[in-house]
Amino acid sequence: MIHIQENEEEALACPHCYETVDMHHYVVGVYERQGGEDKDGVLTLIEGLKVTQKQVPEKQMPGRRNTVAIRFLCWNCQHESTLQLKQHKGACLLSWHGIKARQPELEDQPEPEEPPCDPPTDAD
Ligand SMILES: [Zn+2]
Repeated sequence: MIHIQENEEEALACPHCYETVDMHHYVVGVYERQGGEDKDGVLTLIEGLKVTQKQVPEKQMPGRRNTVAIRFLCWNCQHESTLQLKQHKGACLLSWHGIKARQPELEDQPEPEEPPCDPPTDAD
């Protein structure tokens, strides 16, 4: 279910913690079918000023037609989520997907610890 805080600006709520003040969108993807519904498509990803495109097989395309997907990070609960707007049989469907705890970036992860010494054996 999509929760929108009812105020002047209708703030979108996090689908995990329902907070509205810490939702930040950071990637926008547009899935475009090539040759009509139920065909392979192209995903255009916009990350800041970087725009990339890649082919998407029919089985991995969301919905029957075209889809706009917006990836969010909630700074309150550190969960990521994707809001999809799918064109489907004349309707525009709005739904959340991929709600999960944020994985730390590689540079944020601690250095791996030294492996423990091998246990002594009978030969020692
Ligand atoms: Zn949240």
